Amino acid sequence: MLKRRYHLILLIIVIIIACYAFVSINQMAHQDNSTAIKHELIGNDSSGSVEVIRNIGNPNGKKIAYVVGVHPLENDTHKNLLKLLPKLNNLNYSYDIYIINVSENFSSYGQLHPDDQPGRQTGQELALKYVYPQIVNGSYVLVIDVHAHGGAYGEYNTFVFCPVEGSSGESYARNISQNSINISYYNPNHTTSGPYLSVPLNQHGIPAIYFEENSYISQNIKESHMLELIQTIDNLNF
Ligand SMILES: [Zn+2]
Repeated sequence: MLKRRYHLILLIIVIIIACYAFVSINQMAHQDNSTAIKHELIGNDSSGSVEVIRNIGNPNGKKIAYVVGVHPLENDTHKNLLKLLPKLNNLNYSYDIYIINVSENFSSYGQLHPDDQPGRQTGQELALKYVYPQIVNGSYVLVIDVHAHGGAYGEYNTFVFCPVEGSSGESYARNISQNSINISYYNPNHTTSGPYLSVPLNQHGIPAIYFEENSYISQNIKESHMLELIQTIDNLNF
């Protein structure tokens, strides 16, 4: 009788320990997920908000900024950067990703009428108001403004360029193209967003370039292009 009671108590203790361990492991896993990518709000008004994810990669490396969301309809390509860059290991540089969120509804991609797309002007204005001052004062060696298009550039699907010719931004963009297989250099010579971010950055001596991807090519290929961009930039010398 005494022995049976002893076994019962032992069993209850084992069950309590097992439950405690299970809950603790679950909490740790949950905490890991929620702290792995920390978004910091840097600007907020009625038209939208801007967040930044800081210090992805080598915390002692030179600083590089990516910007997504200047044109909200192009979010398929923005999501690819956000999905891939934070998960990469052994990066040489330290990356900040600026994320622009417009309040307007921009659910449809629509036709490419460059100056007539929902959220487009708002995204550009949020870039100038909140992203530009942070980058100008942020000691960045390179800035990449990530965009997508609907196939409006003939043979050029995936390309980089700098809107300010003769700048160091142009040299970096040409190097990226030369050091990659699938990324061309192509300057369409017209951007609506340039004056809101990349043009004034280059004029202040901060190399700022565009990355453009064709939204209508397959997801797998778009992701492989994004990885190629990230890795080619990570192997540049600054
Ligand atoms: Zn765009």
